[in-house]
Amino acid sequence: MSTALVELQGVTKIYRLGEVEVPALRGVDLSVLPGDFLALMGPSGSGKSTLLHVLGLLDRPTAGRVLWEGADVTRLNGGKLAELRGRRIGFVFQMFNLVPNLTALENVELPLVFLGVPARERRRKAREILERLGLGDRLRHRPNQLSGGQQQRVALARALVTDPALLIADEPTGNLDSATGREILALFVELNGQGRTIVLATHDPEAAAVAKVRLRLRDGRITEVER
Ligand code: ADP
Ligand code: MG
Repeated sequence: MSTALVELQGVTKIYRLGEVEVPALRGVDLSVLPGDFLALMGPSGSGKSTLLHVLGLLDRPTAGRVLWEGADVTRLNGGKLAELRGRRIGFVFQMFNLVPNLTALENVELPLVFLGVPARERRRKAREILERLGLGDRLRHRPNQLSGGQQQRVALARALVTDPALLIADEPTGNLDSATGREILALFVELNGQGRTIVLATHDPEAAAVAKVRLRLRDGRITEVER
């Protein structure tokens, strides 16, 4: 059996709002293997985004352990965690989260700026991935000059430009009409076919259907696994 890319062991996450404790995850065990394509399903508030944040090393669990390629990263310092995340994980969000005053090309270059990649190489990589995603004629457009589907493609290009081991997508089709959503889902399927590991959260059954494995979350627990 191969080593998991990322593994959660007994992960609990409790948010504290003043005196109030909000349990978001209540003991989650999960292994994401290289080549997996997982869909997290479940009603709003069931803990999907929190689980993605812990898997993506954006947030730490309150209790339990997070292993990245077999190494315990639960207590890794913030800088090291950010570096690991920047090199190995790509994120796509429902609202695209592009920087409004940057062009498509500049948005996609951004993760490479943080990794210290020289300008010429940055530009070449960003252009290449945007062309691959069908946006070769939109390089100089700003987000507000692009359709929702095009913006999500730019966001996907930005997530992929570092060639991450793990692609995490939180409701990536939640803001798109169904035809455009299907185009984005087809890209995920293609990427997974090329070996890219993907975890997405969705409450759209059509989106979940393209994954290889569906996990159902309820009140912060995984209650069902369907292959
Ligand atoms: P989902 O993505 O499935 O809608 P979330 O992971 O966003 O679920 O939320 C799970 C629970 O944690 C909910 O009860 C939500 O209100 C709570 N929660 C999420 N983020 C925070 C936060 N930053 N502060 C406090 N509570 C939060
Ligand atoms: Mg969510």
